[in-house]
Amino acid sequence: MLNAGSSSIKFSLFRGAEGEPALDCKGQIEGIGLKPRFSARDAEGRRLAERELAAEDQTDHRAAFEILADWLDAHLQGAPLRGVGHRVVHGGPDFAAPVAVDPALLARLEALVPLAPLHQPHNLAGIRAVQARHPALPQVACFDTAFHRSHPELADRFALPDWLYREGVRRYGFHGLSYESIAAALPEEIAGGRVVVAHLGNGASMCALEAGRSVDSSMAFTALDGIPMGTRPGALDPGVLLYLIGEKGYDYKDLERLLYKESGLLGVSGLSSDLRDLEAGDAPDEARLAIELFVYRIGRELGALAAVLGGLDALVFTAGIGENAKDIRARVCRGAAWLGIALDEEVNAAGGPRISRPDSPASAWVIPTEEEKTIAKHTAAVLSEAGAGAA
Ligand code: ADP
Repeated sequence: MLNAGSSSIKFSLFRGAEGEPALDCKGQIEGIGLKPRFSARDAEGRRLAERELAAEDQTDHRAAFEILADWLDAHLQGAPLRGVGHRVVHGGPDFAAPVAVDPALLARLEALVPLAPLHQPHNLAGIRAVQARHPALPQVACFDTAFHRSHPELADRFALPDWLYREGVRRYGFHGLSYESIAAALPEEIAGGRVVVAHLGNGASMCALEAGRSVDSSMAFTALDGIPMGTRPGALDPGVLLYLIGEKGYDYKDLERLLYKESGLLGVSGLSSDLRDLEAGDAPDEARLAIELFVYRIGRELGALAAVLGGLDALVFTAGIGENAKDIRARVCRGAAWLGIALDEEVNAAGGPRISRPDSPASAWVIPTEEEKTIAKHTAAVLSEAGAGAA
């Protein structure tokens, strides 16, 4: 599977035709256009390759893709690839499931570029790069928005004039492949209940699940809304944007940089977007403030999503911060005592999976996200439906 982003291309190779795909290896080129670096690891995390790329190798995504593809060809030693699944950020209002790539689909996805200008073009370029190298290889697009198409219309609407809704200005929701993997992995005792999942990584969002289906989420029209993230502010009074345009001379590019690159944990702390830097013992007061704001806003969103669900049976933490940052989990859970969550500090410190006390009215969990595996499963399923064999 391929996940082509603005400054990185990530891949995971899975083997196994039917049922559970097994990870063979994964890797990435990060820092494209800046200081590109290639790395690959096997399923146990052992290093297979790691190198800085020379300046002449690296300047664009296309060159980076060819480096990955050459490495993969050598790694496969002639074993055939059956198909490629892609993470595609936007599927628009219609796609509620992954689909096989063909020229008509590419044209429809191209039309969605204005809705996700920073991500969609890279995702589509990844599909085209595979096409150019292996014209006959089946490809499958898996959308970050698809899992949220079960939202009721009310949850999808902004209180804006109707023509904007009809034009596609809607609360789509993102991180859907992650939420789908969590929904499939929920322990039986909560799978049918009211669950809020907190996907806390560099990008961060929260999702309300009712019996495993998404009914609302904190991200909306773009991946900017909701809770603060590494470099994005989360929900913002739109009046702030009017102020910056009207009083400070900000244009589109200035706003884009502020909202995507300079805000969130980085903006508040003035130090770093990486939580580990902010948690370091010698971090300044601003770092503490950034963490406090992060936790406060997660708690606020949790209350909102619990209201949507009419109560809360379980809270699930996932992604880089959710799976590793025990202090963040502890603080969020302490703030959620009013929702019936009683944290077991010891189990939380040990990483879970169930981090609430046995007598806690609502439970709390740590469940690792498996976005890549979800894409591999979908790809295998779509390909075998299409009669092309499994990935
Ligand atoms: P992405 O959205 O890029 O996939 P990740 O899910 O990998 O991001 O999450 C990255 C975040 O997870 C960073 O803020 C990082 O500091 C945090 N993180 C990763 N490991 C730890 C850890 N052991 N303790 C605290 N934070 C961690």
